[in-house]
Parts: sequence; structure tokens; C-alpha cells
Amino acid sequence: MNLDSLGRSLHDLRISVTDRCNFRCVYCMPKEVFGKDFQFLPPRSLLSFEETTRLAKICISLGVEKLRITGGEPLVRREIEKLIAMLAPLDGLKDLTLTTNGALLGRKAQALKDAGLRRITVSLDSIDDQTFRAMNDVDFPVSQVLEGIEAARAVGLSPIKVNMVVKRGLNEQSIVDMARRFLGSGMILRFIEYMDVGATNGWRLDDVVPAREIVSVIDRELPLEPLEPNYRGEVASRYRYRDGDGEIGVISSVTQPFCASCTRMRLSSEGKLYTCLFATAGHDVRALLRGGSSDEEIASFLVDIWTRRADRYSELRTAATVSLPKVEMSHIGG
Ligand code: SAM
Ligand code: SF4
Ligand code: SF4
Repeated sequence: MNLDSLGRSLHDLRISVTDRCNFRCVYCMPKEVFGKDFQFLPPRSLLSFEETTRLAKICISLGVEKLRITGGEPLVRREIEKLIAMLAPLDGLKDLTLTTNGALLGRKAQALKDAGLRRITVSLDSIDDQTFRAMNDVDFPVSQVLEGIEAARAVGLSPIKVNMVVKRGLNEQSIVDMARRFLGSGMILRFIEYMDVGATNGWRLDDVVPAREIVSVIDRELPLEPLEPNYRGEVASRYRYRDGDGEIGVISSVTQPFCASCTRMRLSSEGKLYTCLFATAGHDVRALLRGGSSDEEIASFLVDIWTRRADRYSELRTAATVSLPKVEMSHIGG
């Protein structure tokens, strides 16, 4: 097994398939930056599905067991189900999932399931239509995301996880309503602390609602008790409702960092590898894929990157690191 310089193994690969998105969530792709004139990657610079699959296979040979497809918005990548169909049968792959904003899920759920997708995560920041429209900033109605979630459930994508990023003053009033909405639904609602990813969202520590506060706000209305992690390195701390009607997770990336057990590598849609969500630079693997390198050569490039890895940004976060020129979340995925 290849361990990085802090003793962590490589276990998951997050694959961003596009830097484009049909939403402009205020905490991720603010309109002032990602406006009409923003230069997205040209299609020819994106890794093809064949290139992505080849790389995924090499990563699996190095110990990766889990793949997550993300973006930008992965469902805006044309024929994304074809990539799923190429990845799903890979030998040694134990988990294949995708994170989406749900806008196109009503249309795509069946094709994704047929292609071999096993489960799905849908991001939804509020159940209140007005709040949700303000957060996605393209006036997208909450009802359509709920229809997408229902479609995913109907075709048997399971379990469904629902991710809510909580930002102070924006959607904290939706925490309990979201908990009530998904209580007893069989879906797992996860609350995510607002993070200082990228360099465009104007992040301030004051805007973070700490996971501890989220849990206590819910606990007051719907009593909770902690659960053991499902596996070592699980990023969400789990709680179940005392009445037994389901569970929630909280992801405390800012207030209680989990770098010590971070086993993730990220691949951008143009073929750069990042060993941390907060990285300022990536490693160009597209040049190798397109330049005639063998699988063995690419594998040794990956081993080299991983074994030199020393990232633990969230443990070291300071006022100074917040303003580093970090890569955008919409570029490398969550
Ligand atoms: N477009 C898809 C979606 O929204 O699910 C996939 C990509 S999105 C970058 C992946 C996840 O990152 C989403 O759940 C999103 O809410 C989360 N995210 C984006 N910016 C964030 C931030 N500043 N802090 C915490 N989570 C963030
Ligand atoms: Fe798009 Fe997802 Fe970022 Fe929202 S969080 S802007 S849906 S990539
Ligand atoms: Fe992993 Fe970097 Fe996040 Fe730490 S800050 S958990 S190393 S992605």
C-alpha cells in the first residue's frame, strides 16, 4: 500500500467532469465572478471518457476503492451516463457515486441507474423556496430538485444522501425544517460547514455555523444521539433521532478538521490531480495520458505524487491561508 508522508493511504478518487454549472450558488460560483464573460474550459481540454476511465483503472490498481463523480454540475456534461457505464464494471471498484445539484435528475435518474450508478448525493441548501432560489442565484425552484430526488428514489439509487451547506445569515433558519422534511424518509441528510474553498466566495469565519451548533439546534426540537462511524475516516459525524426515525450527519471541516484520515485525491476535468481540496496547484496527468506514457509510467507518477503528499490545510488554517490563491471548488469538485 502507498502511504503519504503522514501515513495516509489512497482510498478515494473524486472525478470532476466539468467546470460548468447551471447554478450560481453564492458560496461556490458567485455571479460577479462566474458571469457571462467567464472563460470556462474549452471542450477539447476536458479529459475524454476513455482517458478518465484509464486513469481511474490505474488509481484502482493503486488502492482506490471509491469513485465519486462531481463537478461543476456533472449532469451538464453530455452523455455522462456513458462514463458511468465505463466505470461501473471496473474490477476492484467497491463504490461508485455522484454528487449533483439535482436540477437535471428528474430527466437523468433512470439513465444513470441503467448505466450502473449505485447511489447518489443531492445538494439542497433549503426546503424554503425563496431561500433556495436566493442561494442557487438562478431562481431555480426547490420543487424541481425534490422531483429529482424522488426520481432517484423511484429508480432505486440508494441510499440517497442530501447535502446542505450552512452559511450564517443565509440558510441557518432552514436547518430544522430540512431535518423535519427528511426525517423518516430513509435518506441521510448531511450538514456541511461553509468552507474557504477557492478564492472568490469572500469567506469569513463568522459565516461558519459550527457543526456543534447545528446539532444542538436540531437536538432541541428533535432529540439526537451520536452514532459510531461506519468506517475509519468517515468525514461525517453521525447522529440518530432518539425516536429511531433515521439519521443525520454533520461535516465539520472547519471547526473539527479530519485531515489525519483524509484518503482522497481529486481529478479536475482538464486532467490535473490535486491532493487537497485547498490546493493552489495541481499535477498535470493529461500530458501523460495524451503523450504516450504507459500505464506503469502513469502509476509511478501517481505514487510519486501521493507519497510526497503532506497536505493538512484545515488543521493549519489561519487568516493568512484563507487568502491564498486556491483552486475553485467548481473546478475540482467537493
Ligand atoms: N454541482 C454539484 C453539487 O452542487 O452537488 C457537485 C459539485 S459541488 C462543488 C459539491 C459540493 O460542494 C456541494 O454539496 C456543494 O454544496 C459543496 N460546496 C460548494 N462550495 C462549498 C463551500 N464553500 N463550503 C462547503 N461546501 C461547499
Ligand atoms: Fe454549481 Fe454545485 Fe457549485 Fe452550486 S455547489 S454552483 S450547484 S457546482
Ligand atoms: Fe483532506 Fe485537505 Fe481537507 Fe485536510 S484540508 S481533509 S488534507 S482535503
